[in-house]
Amino acid sequence: MTFQSAECNPSVLTGLAASPGVVIGEVFRIHDRVDIPRQNIPVNGVPTEIHRFLHAVKQVKKDLREIRQRLHLDANRDGADIFKAHLMMLEDPTMVERVRDRIATIHVNAEAAVTDIGAEFVDVFSESKNPYFRERSVDLNDLVQQIVSVLMGEERLDLFNRENEVIVVAHNLTPSDTVLMRKTNVLAFVTEVGTRVSHTAILARSLGIPAVVGVGSDITKAQTGDTMVVDGTHGRVIMQPDKEQIFEYQIEREKYAKVEEDLSALRAIDLQTTDGKGVEIAANIEFLEEIELIQKFGGKGVGLYRTEYFYMDRDGLPSEEELFEDYRHMVEQVSPEAATIRTLDIGGEKLVPHLDIGSSMDSLMGLRSIRLCLKYPDIFMNQLRAILRASDYGNVKIMFPMISGLDELREAKWHFEKAQALLSTERIPFDPNVEIGAMIELPAAALSADLLAKEVDFFSIGTNDLIQYTIAIDRRNEETLPLYEPLHPAVLRLIRDVLRVAEEAGIEITVCGEMAGDPVLSVLLIGMGYEKLSMSPTVIPEIKKVLSSISLKDAEQLVDEIMKLSTAGEIETHIWRVAMDRFPELLNWV
Ligand code: PEP
Ligand code: MG
Repeated sequence: MTFQSAECNPSVLTGLAASPGVVIGEVFRIHDRVDIPRQNIPVNGVPTEIHRFLHAVKQVKKDLREIRQRLHLDANRDGADIFKAHLMMLEDPTMVERVRDRIATIHVNAEAAVTDIGAEFVDVFSESKNPYFRERSVDLNDLVQQIVSVLMGEERLDLFNRENEVIVVAHNLTPSDTVLMRKTNVLAFVTEVGTRVSHTAILARSLGIPAVVGVGSDITKAQTGDTMVVDGTHGRVIMQPDKEQIFEYQIEREKYAKVEEDLSALRAIDLQTTDGKGVEIAANIEFLEEIELIQKFGGKGVGLYRTEYFYMDRDGLPSEEELFEDYRHMVEQVSPEAATIRTLDIGGEKLVPHLDIGSSMDSLMGLRSIRLCLKYPDIFMNQLRAILRASDYGNVKIMFPMISGLDELREAKWHFEKAQALLSTERIPFDPNVEIGAMIELPAAALSADLLAKEVDFFSIGTNDLIQYTIAIDRRNEETLPLYEPLHPAVLRLIRDVLRVAEEAGIEITVCGEMAGDPVLSVLLIGMGYEKLSMSPTVIPEIKKVLSSISLKDAEQLVDEIMKLSTAGEIETHIWRVAMDRFPELLNWV
């Protein structure tokens, strides 16, 4: 760790508070873009330059083998597979030959040659129609960075080879990078770009890793080994803090730990508002490891199991048996509470690289989620059978994501019934009364909720996608981030109206998008009449604190008032004023 003396100016950067917590630690910089030295070399310098390049390739191969080995020892198969893919690319002689040729013919230094040829390969990969190759372009880019780092004499400090805990600083991280981080020594992460509602940020919250995203280009000044303070609660990053700031943040960290401790006292309470309205809180999870957090933070059952992460970063599709074991484990642990398993919701940013099934998987409007399952019934059937088999071990509910209308819902149910019929014929036990739900996350579903309600047992509102598709923006995109507005009257009206439809139809309804886990927005949901929310386990205590300190009556009045306003800005200002007058508890969050 390098400490900067007090007379230098430490930099405080602000970004989006993606996942709470305060840490002070050493930076590990994942280089995405490096300033590459570019020089012409004399003809007699060519052999030396080629030798430097080949030596760097050898070094990177050695590092990759070591990392793979280590991940295997840690039984981290997902991670090991990624590094296997890196190694395979490096062992392909084509790229190495092209770099050699470039040094020999153009007379440039090895750093420039490998960058140029690497960029050509990355372009070819990223323009491929095959999603597997498009995803590999990220790996290829990473490989080029690694070779250049070695050439530039940068110490090869790989994240997975480190003994000590680090703060990862990167241009951006993908959900699969974050999946990998759960098995490594990551204290926190900070990214130059990114949004609070991207799946990477959602994962950070689920895993309890403090994170600040969208910090901007100044973060690129941070280097491996620098000291950094990350305040994920307020979205602040201090690069090279002076001793005073370190001291201040040590106190802040202790305060945060104390707040966490106080909050965890709320774990066991049965949540109700001050005027006695009961609210149920379930958990959103992505991995089995999170089950213990549900207990720790006082959630009741699983309101959303994002099953797609089990399909990511592996070489092939999981077998029915593997899925069954995963679900059974989850269901047994959560029993007797409900375990709501959402069927595969891949596509968009949640890519499964080995699935070579068309080019529109990464498009938000493309072949994703239930559309993909209906087009590839074998994949769907595999999962449906596994879910049904697990239902014999507890209280399983199943829900279909991205439903756009009744036809799609009926088709999904048809496959579900077929899975039931097959299992019956094979005399494999399952619960015949598994409840079926539809996620309401497309405006089409919200507006035809009365039709859908007749054919399901419950609704679950996915506000993340509902906001994205209602306002027609990509939630990963920073440029349109200001438009991503949960308080947009159109969004609030849809959420309010779907609740009314569910009430009239007499079916259960939950909100499982990120709105449910936001202190201010959770008050609005309760004020509208929602009684069940599902969220990342780590935010449950905070929501319990807020909701147990307000009355339903006040929350209802607030909702009445904001529903009369015309813009998200007006609504926000109104909430702020009301918080000052009537909800002092909320002032921390507005
Ligand atoms: C949502 O869209 O709100 C949701 C819960 O699903 P996901 O974030 O996984 O798309
Ligand atoms: Mg969704």
